[in-house]
Order: sequence, then C-alpha cells, then structure tokens
Amino acid sequence: MPFHNLFSARAIRAGMASFFRRSGQDNPRLPSMPEEIEIETTTTCNINPPCVMCCRHLATMAPVAFIPQEMIEKLKPLFPRIKSVSLHGIGEPLMQEALFSLMDRFSPQAHISFTSNGILLDKKKILQMIKHRLNRLSVSLDAANPLTYKKIRRDDYFCAIKNNLKLLFEIKKELGVDYPELWINMTIMNENLAEVVDFVRLAQEVEANAVEFHVLGQMPVQYCVKSDSFNFDYAAQMIDTSSSLFIENMRAAKVMADQLSIRFSSMIDEILKAIQPNPGRGCERQKQRKKYYCTRPWRHALIHLNGDVWVCCHMRGENCVMGNLNGSDFNTIWNNDKITSIRKDIAKGIMPSACSHCPVFEK
Ligand code: SF4
Ligand code: SF4
Repeated sequence: MPFHNLFSARAIRAGMASFFRRSGQDNPRLPSMPEEIEIETTTTCNINPPCVMCCRHLATMAPVAFIPQEMIEKLKPLFPRIKSVSLHGIGEPLMQEALFSLMDRFSPQAHISFTSNGILLDKKKILQMIKHRLNRLSVSLDAANPLTYKKIRRDDYFCAIKNNLKLLFEIKKELGVDYPELWINMTIMNENLAEVVDFVRLAQEVEANAVEFHVLGQMPVQYCVKSDSFNFDYAAQMIDTSSSLFIENMRAAKVMADQLSIRFSSMIDEILKAIQPNPGRGCERQKQRKKYYCTRPWRHALIHLNGDVWVCCHMRGENCVMGNLNGSDFNTIWNNDKITSIRKDIAKGIMPSACSHCPVFEK
C-alpha cells in the first residue's frame, strides 16, 4: 500500500498543512476531489481455495467480478487530479488485461501501485508494468519458506514466485529502469511470527526494495479453515502485539532490514511502536497525538467494485459506506452528510464510530 509513512511526523505535518490549505479552517465540505484513490479492480483470484486469512472466506463478500467499464467512466473526472492510486482489492489484479489501460488514464505524475500474489508475473506482464509506468509492485508472500507459504497461501508457488521476482529484477536491470519498485509483504499471525527476520533476508534474495508488515486484523466473523497441512483458527492466530515475543521479533526484523539496507514499512501502529528503540519515551509521533485526528477523509477515497465509496479500507461497520456510484456521482458523495459528519467529528478530535477498529491509528 502506498501509505506506509502516513503517520510519520513529516507526513502528518504535510497532511495537516494540505488539509488546512485546501479546506480552510475545519471546513468539512470540500470544493476539490481526493488526491489519493484506491480502486478495487477485481474480486477474482487465481488462488483457490483462498489463502487462510482472505476475506473471500466471508459469505458477505461481493460476487467474483472485474470492475465494469461504466464504473471507470464514472470515476474519470477524478483522474487528472489524483497523485496516488492503488489498483487492488480482495483479488488478483494481474488476472485482467484492462488493468494496464486503466493505468494510462492517470496523469504521468501519479504514483501507481498495486498488490499481487506474484503467480502470474511473467516477462510479458513485467514489460507491461514498465511500459504503463507502474511505480510500485507489492507481492504478498506471508512466509519466508515454502512450508509456511503453503500452510497460509495454500499452494506450491513459493519457489516459482521467487523466480518471478528475480526475473523482474533482471528485466529492470536490462532496461536500465528502477521501477516498479518491488516490495514484499507479510500479514503476521502466530504461525509466521518467527519468520519475520528470514522474511527480510528473503527480500534481499529477491532484490526487493522493501518489506511491508501487517498483522491479522479484526474480522466481523472469525472463522476456521482446515486443510491437510494446517488447521487455521482465525482467533487463535491473532497476534498479541503487546507480548515480548512479538516486540523482540519485530525489533530483530528492523535491525536486519537496516543491516541489509532494505526499507522496513508498516502502517500498523503496534508494529511501529514495537520497533521504537525507546518506547517509554515520548517519540515524535506520540507527541503529535495529543488528540485524535486523521487526514484521510479529506484526501482519500476507496472505490469498491460494486460502486460503494469508502474513505479507507480500515473502516468497519454500517457507517463505512459513504454512498454508491450507481445512484450518485462522486462529487455528491464526496460532500454528502455522511462524510461531512465524519470530517466534523475528526476536526473536533472525536473518533467517528466507523474508525473505531482502525489498526493504523492509536486509540
Ligand atoms: S491472493 Fe489475496 S485475494 Fe487471493 S486468496 Fe490470497 S489473500 Fe485472497
Ligand atoms: S479508519 Fe478512520 S482513522 Fe483509520 S485511517 Fe481510516 S479514516 Fe483514518
């Protein structure tokens, strides 16, 4: 995801400055469009059955599909202004050819990224990514070895994906380009926690620029998945982020990343706190958090394949859908009562109910 440094001191200052500049005081209605957008381009995936922690296990998920062209046309007025776009959702973006032509719709200055499972990454797709200016590719692996990979992602592609990532590096080198930047990402659960340091070593082996860590988040339904190699119990796999085991592993991963000059990225507050050298002392981020605030409702939008507009993917509950593009235009939703009420609450330092499960914000 492109917002790894969202809560760094510099990003907070930049975000708040941009917010005040554009909105004036604490105006919840905005004359402009968002600068950052996430578009769920597909809910189809080539990993079946789904990875153990995948939202596709939930019966409430949208039916499998690709984003319709009409939806893209509805979003067209936003495109020239967008500075950052990510093109993934709960599915595999590389399964659709239309992905690359969609990338051409944004300004040449826009930062374009998506997350992939890396299985379909071949020479043709790599050349398309370069031709259509993909800035960052994040590949989800969730493991540092084939055994754990198979338990979590339920296929045997670990070694094949490593080869695909090495091919990406070779092609970039041959063409003399430094994009797309490669990140590899891991969703940490109890099963793979011990592998976080090896995951950083893996990043070096596949010539990745960065490692990105998430933790298994709260789900409305915490299900179980049984297979030959692993009985996954969602609740039992959730990490105790206050445990010394978690903190020690994350610190060791950070040290290894620094040693290998691999960027360490996370937007999860507990991970960022765990890797602080002096957690007891007021760090820059904590000093800035005397009061709750988040700038996303002023600058960020997430468009689901069915037309639902959210502020961001971390919102939960009934109040997270701001409106639907099938019955409205984007501009109307962007300033409707629902989203302006969220902006008003945040401007007063009140956390909106839709944000109460946010994993990237310290409550
Ligand atoms: S690759 Fe992503 S979308 Fe596909 S099954 Fe795994 S978690 Fe789900
Ligand atoms: S859930 Fe709310 S607090 Fe968290 S990132 Fe989204 S808008 Fe900000």
